[in-house]
Amino acid sequence: MLRVGAHVSIAGGVDNAVGNEVAVGGNCGQIFTHSPQVWQDPNIGDEEAEAFRTGTEANLDGPWVIHSSYLVNLCTPKDDLRAKSVDSMQKEVDAAAKLDIPYVNVHLGAHTGAGVENGLANAASALDELDVPDDVTVLVESDAGSGTKLGGDFEHLATVLDDSTQALDVCLDTAHAFAAGYDLSTAKGVKASLTEFDDVVGLDHLRCIHLNDSKHACGTNKDEHAHIGEGEIGVGGMETLVNDPRVEDVPLVLETPTEDGKSFEWNIQRVRELRGE
Ligand SMILES: [Zn+2]
Repeated sequence: MLRVGAHVSIAGGVDNAVGNEVAVGGNCGQIFTHSPQVWQDPNIGDEEAEAFRTGTEANLDGPWVIHSSYLVNLCTPKDDLRAKSVDSMQKEVDAAAKLDIPYVNVHLGAHTGAGVENGLANAASALDELDVPDDVTVLVESDAGSGTKLGGDFEHLATVLDDSTQALDVCLDTAHAFAAGYDLSTAKGVKASLTEFDDVVGLDHLRCIHLNDSKHACGTNKDEHAHIGEGEIGVGGMETLVNDPRVEDVPLVLETPTEDGKSFEWNIQRVRELRGE
């Protein structure tokens, strides 16, 4: 079954996300539990949580994913930032349990001079500090790899999965992977990249794909999303990816631009067409 949806707003209450997802034609999706640009705790009341759970059950196939705050930096060598990051992530996994959401997605962050090896070790040990509820899994997201940000190389993701004592899985962002140097613009490149992912990380760890096209060329490390088929990845790459039998059951969550009039609805419909639905 094709599971495709978008990152939708929770404005006015987290239960509103369900209607927002239905409105754009999605059957799974992603939310922030609070503004991702500031340190803020998810503040989810019992009634809205209940309405979210029952609304999801009645209207969507799922899964939902919580995307953690952009301020979280698990790779940091700084004690205060690490403590804040762990605290923020703990609140996200607790919110996920309250909402019956199986996944919390996080970027590894930047080592800011500590070096790749230390940065990855910091991320693994920070994740080890979490008390993750039973039915919740943290997904480490692939990164575009700008500056000292880690997670651009599949090896980084594999190292953190290996070194952490948590049962972690992975979210592959197509725009990020492309910017990090994995050529998803051709059928050959898509096949090779998925094979490499399988060899390095394991496709059994792939629980979500952030399906985004990229405004910038392969290997530029520039993270800017484009509409499906209209960026540098293009229709050919996207079509190959969404039809590869190895990932056909992986939920596709779109984070395409919303400011230029082309909606999530348009992008979700495009994915359905590429899948021949
Ligand atoms: Zn993403």
